[in-house]
Amino acid sequence: MSAPLLQADAPEIAYREGELHVEAVVVSRIAAAVGTPVYIYSAGAIERQYRRFAAAFADRPARLCYSVKANSNLSIIATLGRLGAGADVVSEGEFRRALAAGIPGDRIVFSGVGKTETELAFALEHDVYQVNVESRGELELLSAVARRLKRVAPVAIRVNPDVDARTHHKIATGKKENKFGIDLAHAPDIFAEAATLPGIALKGVAVHIGSQLTAMGPFEIAFRRVVELFRGLVARGLPLQRLDFGGGIGIRYRDETPPSLDDYAVLIRHLTEQLLDGLEVELAFEPGRFIVGNAGVLATRVLYVKEGVTRRFVVVDAAMNDLLRPALYDAWHEIVPTKPHGRAEPPVKQSIVGPVCETGDAFALDRALPPLAPGELLAILSAGAYGAVMSSSYNTRPPAAEVLVRGGDFAVVRERPSYEALLGLDRMAPWLAGR
Ligand SMILES: *Cc1c(COP(=O)(O)O)cnc(C)c1O
Repeated sequence: MSAPLLQADAPEIAYREGELHVEAVVVSRIAAAVGTPVYIYSAGAIERQYRRFAAAFADRPARLCYSVKANSNLSIIATLGRLGAGADVVSEGEFRRALAAGIPGDRIVFSGVGKTETELAFALEHDVYQVNVESRGELELLSAVARRLKRVAPVAIRVNPDVDARTHHKIATGKKENKFGIDLAHAPDIFAEAATLPGIALKGVAVHIGSQLTAMGPFEIAFRRVVELFRGLVARGLPLQRLDFGGGIGIRYRDETPPSLDDYAVLIRHLTEQLLDGLEVELAFEPGRFIVGNAGVLATRVLYVKEGVTRRFVVVDAAMNDLLRPALYDAWHEIVPTKPHGRAEPPVKQSIVGPVCETGDAFALDRALPPLAPGELLAILSAGAYGAVMSSSYNTRPPAAEVLVRGGDFAVVRERPSYEALLGLDRMAPWLAGR
């Protein structure tokens, strides 16, 4: 196939016979059956990305813990769990999702800067593989909780290597002014303390400098600092065996050129061989976006075309409550009609906006697209990561349903909530009720 890919890394999402398909299912069929807006994911694309990642480290002891926050649908987690993936979770809720999807606690890494005592206890009771600790306070609390439960907590300490990830500032996590990790200067003290705490089994060093990294340089600087720290700590007699490199490999939304998986694997091989000669180390990775980002689209229907004074607005039935990335990060998503216009209409600049009462509720401004018409079905591409998981019911809009496609089959893997469910958690204050 020589046609250019609609989305990088996802040949499953392509035009065939004049219509957009996800694997063997035509998008318009799903839209008709399930309604719009609807997220549609390709199981095949997700599995291939996972297998590619696993293959890059197949000759080394390495654990792949899928970062559940990128897309926490149970069917997505289960799809990866069946391939052997572990999970990286950042809350008890995500921990419960991973367990419910069949990933046992001993394949789960618990990350995050603000784990509560209850959450730490839950993780220990479910035989968590590793808690990535982010502060002295957390370390001491975890030790106490473990003692109370008569357990020992397997711990990696997340360090902050003070590296600019050169990504959007809201998803950069590895500069010293960010809230994440323990800075390198204080790290040796905390590791030494961890080694003495009775409830802690010190296992390793963890790092994660941000998401959607499109350059290798920041990884290289950060990983070198972390591996050097690891070596220094081992030289001081600390029993470290695990190196967790986090996630963060970017994907192509538009024209980015993220580091290739091969280059990434070579970098890690070089650093670990060069600096740790002979040391037995188990590697861990926490990819999220790389696995699912380009494996999904958000299908939405055009409601109105409205000529503004300076712009043509195409109002669609998806909104920022369904896909927040454009409003939150000024993110760019490719948008295509699911049925390309046969006619050779010249593209015109149109702004694709949602119904929410905020000017920020726009998926694209002044985007050159074939002239769109009411009723037309569009696909917002590269929406598999940080899409559905960030949805809300803002404006009391039921968030989009989710569908997983496998070959010629599709299944609704998350229903659009009913209005009863949306309103059902509210309670009338007693002094307002019964009138
Ligand atoms: C968000 C996150 C990840 C995953 O990041 P991606 O950019 O989706 O790969 C991995 N580890 C930690 C600690 C995270 O917070």
